[in-house]
Amino acid sequence: MFKNNQDEISRVSHGIQHCQRCERAGTRTVAVPGEGSPEARMLLLGEAAGRQEDRSGRPFVGRAGAYLDKMFRLHSLDRDTVFITSILKCYHPDSPKKAQIETCRSWTEVQIELLQPELILVMGKTAERGLFGKAIAGKEPIIVWEGISCVVTCHPAAAMRFPQMQERFKLDFERFVRLAEVRELL
Ligand code: URA
Repeated sequence: MFKNNQDEISRVSHGIQHCQRCERAGTRTVAVPGEGSPEARMLLLGEAAGRQEDRSGRPFVGRAGAYLDKMFRLHSLDRDTVFITSILKCYHPDSPKKAQIETCRSWTEVQIELLQPELILVMGKTAERGLFGKAIAGKEPIIVWEGISCVVTCHPAAAMRFPQMQERFKLDFERFVRLAEVRELL
């Protein structure tokens, strides 16, 4: 089971790395499929690969990633125990078009089908719109989507810039970790 899932996840990552479904195929350096444990029961979903990610092919390795890592350390969490990806797998130097989000979300759908996470941390409006088809943040901090509990929060990059957002992100991250502990997902 574990090995099969690892193979399947790798197969999907390979598909993402060679994806030609939108014009970003011609502008990216590399695509960023996401990484983590194929056994992960928790998924962290960001918005889009940034410049650093575009060079390295790994999610959240830039400044927002450093901030996220701080949260991981604060809660003695290990990146390897979760799966981290973004709704847009390529770097978008400009705002992504709705059609690009829709096209790209199908990769995340496949990843979710394979991983079957029990908890998702949805970080930022693009992740929110991409996953749910609309923005819902601010209404309820935790929603159940397709039977999966989702903690909906702001993007770590916003948390780094605005004190109010920082407060929200910290609280939501804590909520995410507590839920994982209660459900014994770690
Ligand atoms: N922001 C995201 O949403 N995803 C990344 O991988 C990096 C920055």
